[in-house]
Amino acid sequence: MAFDLTPTAAQHDLAKRAHEFAQDCIRPVAQHYDQAQEFPWPILEEAAERGFYSPLFYRDLIGDPTGLSLPMFMEELFWGCAGIGLAIVMPALALSAIGQAATPKQMLQWAPECFGTPGDLKLAALAISEPEGGSDVRNLRTRAVRDGDDWIIDGHKMWIGNGGIADVHVVNAVVDEELGHRGQALFVVPGGTPGLELVRKLDKLGCRASHTAELKFDHVRVPADNLLGGLDKLEHALAKRRAAARDGGRSGSVTLGTFEQTRPMVAAQALGIARAALEYMTTYANRREAFGAPIIDNQGVSFPIADLATQIDAARLLTWRASWMAANGVPFERGEGSMAKLAASEVAVRATERAIQTMGGWGYITDHPVEKWYRDAKLYTIFEGTSEIQRIVISHALGAVDGRPPLHVDLDPSGGPLNKMFGRGTEVRGRAAASALNMRDHVPGPILKAALKILRPPR
Ligand SMILES: Cc1cc2nc3c(=O)[nH]c(=O)nc-3n(C[C@H](O)[C@H](O)[C@H](O)COP(=O)(O)OP(=O)(O)OC[C@H]3O[C@@H](n4cnc5c(N)ncnc54)[C@H](O)[C@@H]3O)c2cc1C
Repeated sequence: MAFDLTPTAAQHDLAKRAHEFAQDCIRPVAQHYDQAQEFPWPILEEAAERGFYSPLFYRDLIGDPTGLSLPMFMEELFWGCAGIGLAIVMPALALSAIGQAATPKQMLQWAPECFGTPGDLKLAALAISEPEGGSDVRNLRTRAVRDGDDWIIDGHKMWIGNGGIADVHVVNAVVDEELGHRGQALFVVPGGTPGLELVRKLDKLGCRASHTAELKFDHVRVPADNLLGGLDKLEHALAKRRAAARDGGRSGSVTLGTFEQTRPMVAAQALGIARAALEYMTTYANRREAFGAPIIDNQGVSFPIADLATQIDAARLLTWRASWMAANGVPFERGEGSMAKLAASEVAVRATERAIQTMGGWGYITDHPVEKWYRDAKLYTIFEGTSEIQRIVISHALGAVDGRPPLHVDLDPSGGPLNKMFGRGTEVRGRAAASALNMRDHVPGPILKAALKILRPPR
């Protein structure tokens, strides 16, 4: 499907409903949950009632070939509050990992367990990071070893959203010592499994309504069925990676693939925070007077706002493009997923910082939400790959495609042979236009106009 910025009627309606939910249900309680650092159960219930908290909802969004539904929804939700937004969407991150690795039977078993149903909600967590290894997956120390038909998991995970309170924990662990980080597999560890310990809930700078925890896995036993993808697929993948390692080549990992896919989704979340800050500071700068005039009359105030509006739109275009690429199976060969995440997260930090500056002393205190948005935004340059890691991914990708043209030149063209011969800007049309101009003094205007109308270019 071609990249198109026009939302469908359903997307328009989705964004409107998500915005109403954010405005009516999330914003009024955002400060409370932030200050109390309390998990927003009633808001999750409301999200579920409105159809925003279910595996089928995300299946629909992820399956949208335009790619726009998911980022449009995320932006509106996170415009409300990033902490509450994270609490609502955390199961979708786990679901994405399950979707990439699981067998269809496992997907059917675990996807409903990630969300539950209204009145009986469930939670899911994606547990990858460890105290010694967030960016550097080579430092991951969690191990899983086979014991008869079971797997035993030992390890330590850090900064895990919904960790320890989730019904489903999707956990990565090394299963092949020689392959190290290339020899990983994903497991489902249900909440309450003996040996799974919630060490502590972490006290955070921002996004405080979401639950983030340190976890320990002490001899956690799970059945063979909880290995996502199953044993045959794992052994096949490990054999491939061993062969690649012998040949000195590289091969992907399920874990990294998950992050690559979810980056546009996380970028859209950051855009929600950035847009909230942009709107708030613009309104304030129009109303606040200093030296007898609205402060926005000063270019020192208005130019940074203009720059931010430009950068937010640019980041949104990158995000929608990456989301469209993911939906259409166009690989991020130039690091397009990381470009979106990098641009959106960094503009969110700049926009929220600028909102505080624009509001002066009022921006620095909790009477207004901008100090909270500033704290929330900072997370986005850290999790799902820090900004530095995004730059590494992009620069490596650029190295790999060195000498190749930009994406739009590389993509398969749409329109077919008729378009190639007679489409806009073709040689044939150029010659026809030149002849028409030459004839304009000899042929009556209305006839020339009618002829040009008939000779419409094929799409
Ligand atoms: C609130 C919160 C929620 C989170 N949620 C989850 C979750 O649900 N699940 C999960 O698995 N993880 C989660 N994380 C973990 C997060 O993904 C990691 O914190 C992140 O990947 C960074 O890893 P690190 O903290 O170990 O930093 P490090 O990897 O130690 O990096 C420290 C600094 O060094 C820089 N750096 C490292 N290597 C390089 C390099 N080669 N070149 C240049 N700079 C470099 C980094 O960019 C960073 O600035 C969460 C984190 C937070 C704070």
